[in-house]
Amino acid sequence: MAVVIPFVRDFDFAYGRCDVVSPGIRRVVANNPGPFTFTGTGTYIVGHGEVAVIDPGPALDTHLAAILTAITHERVTAILITHDHSDHSPLAARLSKLTGAPVYGCARKPKPGALPASEGEEGDDTAFRPDVDWCGGGTVSGPGWTLEAIPTPGHTSNHLCFAFPQEQVLFTGDHIMGWSTSVVIPPDGDMTAYLASLERVRGGDFKTLWPTHGPPVTKVDPFIEAYIGHRLEREAQVLGAVQAGLVTIPQIVDRLYVGIDNRLKLAAAQSVLSHLIKLVREGRVACDGTPQLSSRYRL
Ligand SMILES: [Zn+2]
Repeated sequence: MAVVIPFVRDFDFAYGRCDVVSPGIRRVVANNPGPFTFTGTGTYIVGHGEVAVIDPGPALDTHLAAILTAITHERVTAILITHDHSDHSPLAARLSKLTGAPVYGCARKPKPGALPASEGEEGDDTAFRPDVDWCGGGTVSGPGWTLEAIPTPGHTSNHLCFAFPQEQVLFTGDHIMGWSTSVVIPPDGDMTAYLASLERVRGGDFKTLWPTHGPPVTKVDPFIEAYIGHRLEREAQVLGAVQAGLVTIPQIVDRLYVGIDNRLKLAAAQSVLSHLIKLVREGRVACDGTPQLSSRYRL
């Protein structure tokens, strides 16, 4: 039976408004809705008095003003970035300059052959330079809060989630989202790493997941279970298509995504490629040279 992910999409918000979503967490949503951002970027403010800001978001003056209004009379002591997509990190440098707070995150190592991400998703913030390198993890604290970086590569190679142990919750960025599956686009996106990162979060015993886009996930275990099951199901379908004799990615896309909108075909092809790279790596599928969108595949 097909895996059904129990998506959550009910979301009460208004652009620029600061909502108190838990005792220690506030959220301001940026006005950048889109096919990869749902209703827009949710910037989280953690703590009171001396606060951390997670994913200040896209380069929108209105959003920067909304964040600054939300923290009037408070001090920002840390700016945390889940990854360097242009809907997450661009405001970090300006907010850092205005507040003096350092930026924590993982700078991306360029990979040969990487497409400009704008071809399939949100686009990269190539100017992103964290002050503190958290590629291997890290911890920062303030009064009543601790945030611990958990490397979760997959959606991007530099993706981090942030655990907030005082509330036993995890800020998941684009790694796990309630409203949608995550986009994994090779070569920076990596399905093998992505599945390992899902397992890593599953072992964390979190009560709530706070994604950058949309509402929180509160039924954590069944959600991650379905998220993993969905990817493994897709992988089995891709393998089945190769077993059935299909050799190109467009053929596999037409078989797996019946009636798909033409505008989504590239994203579907990239997703199939991410599975094929994993299958080739595991020796279950073969192809000549490095697996690419234009490669021919066989058992
Ligand atoms: Zn992203």
